[in-house]
Amino acid sequence: MRKPLVAGNWKMNKNVQEATLLVADLIPGLESVKTVDRVLCPPFTSLMVVAGMVAGTEIALGAQNMHWENSGAFTGEASPSMIKEFCHYVIIGHSERRTYFCESDETVNKKIKGAILHDLIPIICVGETLEEREKDRTGEIISRQMKGAFQGIESIDPAKLVIAYEPVWAIGTGKASSPQDANNVIGNMVRENMKILFGEEIAQLVRVLYGGSVNGQNAGDFFKQSEIDGGLVGGASLKPSDFLQIVEAAT
Ligand code: PEP
Repeated sequence: MRKPLVAGNWKMNKNVQEATLLVADLIPGLESVKTVDRVLCPPFTSLMVVAGMVAGTEIALGAQNMHWENSGAFTGEASPSMIKEFCHYVIIGHSERRTYFCESDETVNKKIKGAILHDLIPIICVGETLEEREKDRTGEIISRQMKGAFQGIESIDPAKLVIAYEPVWAIGTGKASSPQDANNVIGNMVRENMKILFGEEIAQLVRVLYGGSVNGQNAGDFFKQSEIDGGLVGGASLKPSDFLQIVEAAT
């Protein structure tokens, strides 16, 4: 039985004061939903203050990115052990990073290895663009991204890993995938690739989220699908009532 997980990716939104107000609004509602793993991913600048606020709760934090090296001359980057000071999770390979910051299957792979080495749980994002979908290349893209992500990794603990299927065309557009389609991609492509790479048992144990324009209204339809174990939520995670509705829909 896979425990549902909902992660809020705030992206580059909220200064420290705004983050403080948002978390204060979220804590009571999030704390009451114990059957779902709840993860907040604020920007780096707010991690420390948010970590102080959620200390003693079951709410976990995630970073939105990470360098694979643990220290050195990498101006502007944050290392696994720096992130580990505040976070249990780290989002890796988000499509916005692949699109705007040259994130490749190779850098995703290095970051996943860095995360595993430092006992951080990577939330690994995969998904196709609209053009790729229209050319019927979704399966090929997911397979390439997953093989690349796990290159050189021979065994994994499925409890220390989360995958998010995020069709690029659905992220931040208000055009969510259909729940049945997302379920089909996750079951027949994401889990199938996990099976090829690590075997059937791990493919069934690993949690796979859907991400892409999830909101309070549509979340329930996604989360009742058999292959979908929760959501990676962008825009709606900045609105407390929407985010709480989404988390409750995962129970
Ligand atoms: C995301 O940032 O991963 C995401 C899915 O964004 P949104 O929910 O806004 O589409």
